[in-house]
Amino acid sequence: MAFELPALPYALDALAPHISQETLEFHYGKHHQTYVTNLNNLTAGTDHEGATLDDVIMAADGGLFNNAAQVWNHTFYWNSMKPGGGGAPSGEVADRVNAAFGSYDGFATKFAEAATTQFGSGWAWLVDAGSGLEIMKTGNADLPMKHGAKALLTIDVWEHAYYIDFRNARPNYIKTYLEHLLNWDFVAANLD
Ligand code: MN
Repeated sequence: MAFELPALPYALDALAPHISQETLEFHYGKHHQTYVTNLNNLTAGTDHEGATLDDVIMAADGGLFNNAAQVWNHTFYWNSMKPGGGGAPSGEVADRVNAAFGSYDGFATKFAEAATTQFGSGWAWLVDAGSGLEIMKTGNADLPMKHGAKALLTIDVWEHAYYIDFRNARPNYIKTYLEHLLNWDFVAANLD
């Protein structure tokens, strides 16, 4: 069965005014869709046809890896945000964040620093590295599962993620994500 573009977990206009419908029309409807189309073209008639997305990611390199990982990364990114999100977590997630970073502010500072300083295209992540929560950043399509860490949360810092709404101001996009969009429910689900 061919790989499919997963449905967005909310409406195209649900993240506005922070992330516009226009951004999601391009980012989800064009960029994410193109990675799915490329992945299907690259796997058709090969040993990877019918494999799981995770198996392709772990086995592949080059263009096949890039497209498979970008399919995974974008699905994970949509779920890392929700309307009315952002701010500090509560419950067990808060305990884990405080244990690793001292406080929510400690987490937010390190996460924003990683997202801001990822040079060029890539991703910043909150991960479970086995010994506790950590911040990670990766270039282009790279992702935590290739480094033995479990992803809990991500932000896309490719320019296509923010250029329509924030132009070149990546730090404003990161601040908006942290204050209005970050989905701690998704982090809690990934920790279970
Ligand atoms: Mn993207």
